[in-house]
This record gives sequence, structure tokens and C-alpha cells, in this order.
Amino acid sequence: MTIQHHPDDDLLLAHTAGRLALGPAVLVATHLEGCAQCRERARLLEAVGGALIDDLPPETLAPEALARTLAAIDAPPKAPPPRPVAGRHPALPPGMAWPRALRRANASPWRWLGPGMRWSRVTLPGDPKANVFLLRIGAGKQLPVHTHSDCELTQVLYGTFHDGRALFGPGDFDEADGSFHHQPTVQAGGDCICLASVEGKVLFQGALARMLGSLVGM
Ligand SMILES: [Zn+2]
Repeated sequence: MTIQHHPDDDLLLAHTAGRLALGPAVLVATHLEGCAQCRERARLLEAVGGALIDDLPPETLAPEALARTLAAIDAPPKAPPPRPVAGRHPALPPGMAWPRALRRANASPWRWLGPGMRWSRVTLPGDPKANVFLLRIGAGKQLPVHTHSDCELTQVLYGTFHDGRALFGPGDFDEADGSFHHQPTVQAGGDCICLASVEGKVLFQGALARMLGSLVGM
């Protein structure tokens, strides 16, 4: 299945410029791992951004900049950073690869969320407060209707769902904001596992949905 849904240029540009918070950045990085089209697009945007910076007038250095640089060169070497430890992740269906962008993240075992629904909290070593999680929804199940006060990014890792507008499969990326009330439905045939990053509060409707919100900590 080819990838149909990609991050837009604004998001790719913010990613290449290092302007995204760690949660959204991990989502975009996970998409780029599987999408040659977006890797090429990001490379192009980065080149254009670099060319624009080259056109800016040179900034004058602070007078003490040279002294600071020389002092830094003379300083004794710092202790080497600790070796990165590979993180844990919950059991995955056969054939599903764990994203390289998450290799140092720790994801909890699957936790019950509702009938046919499980979730896993993903803790990023660089930003433990980032709201990143995995959702694993059984075939034919529906997530509660929800809308967003800010922005939610979703990357499909496994399986397919339909959000009322379009079908999303492995490798697809979705950016939702408060303008759309969506109710993703997982297609028949198997579970769907998505990686999600949420900035701001998700506004769920209904009792089960509110419980989901409080479980996930949003
Ligand atoms: Zn893409």
C-alpha cells in the first residue's frame, strides 16, 4: 500500500529547522523513515532554508566571542556522554517494525482502555513530559468522537483506519486540529496501531471518551 497522507510543508520545514517540540519531531521523524517522497521534500526545504540564511547580512560577533571560543578549546575534555540505552516497547504483531526514531524511548506494556482498545505511554528520554502514546485498536472498533483544542499528529504504524474523510494505512500521517470532529474506525481484518503526539488538550465527548482522556492523561 503506498503512502497517501503526508506532513505538510510547514511541518516539514519546522522539522528540518529544528523548531518542533520533541513529541511532534518524533512523529515526523517516524514518517520520514518510511517515506522517500517526504525525505526528498525535507531535503529540498532544508536547502532552500539554507540559501535564505546565506542571503542574510552577516551578524557582528560580540567582542568577547573569540576569547570565549579559545577558552572552550583550552577547557579539559568533558566526560563522554553515557552510552544510549535501547528502550523497551510493548509486544508488537508479527512483521511490525519498531520505529528507529523511538529506539531510545520507553513505551509501557499495553494497557486496557476499553473493549478492543489498548494504549501505551511512550516516554521520550529528551522530554519525559511530551504527550506521545501508542493506540492499538481492534478490527471494526471505533474511537470516541473527539476534537482538538490544539494539534494532534498521528502516524499509522500497522493496520488501517478510516476517519470519516479518508482511509489511512501503514506509513500514513495525519494532522488534526480543532476544526474537525473525527471518529476513527479501524477496518476489518486486524488491529491498527498508531503513534500519536498531542499538543494541548483533547476534547472528548461522552463518558467513555472522557474516561479515555483522563486515562491517557489529557
Ligand atoms: Zn510522506
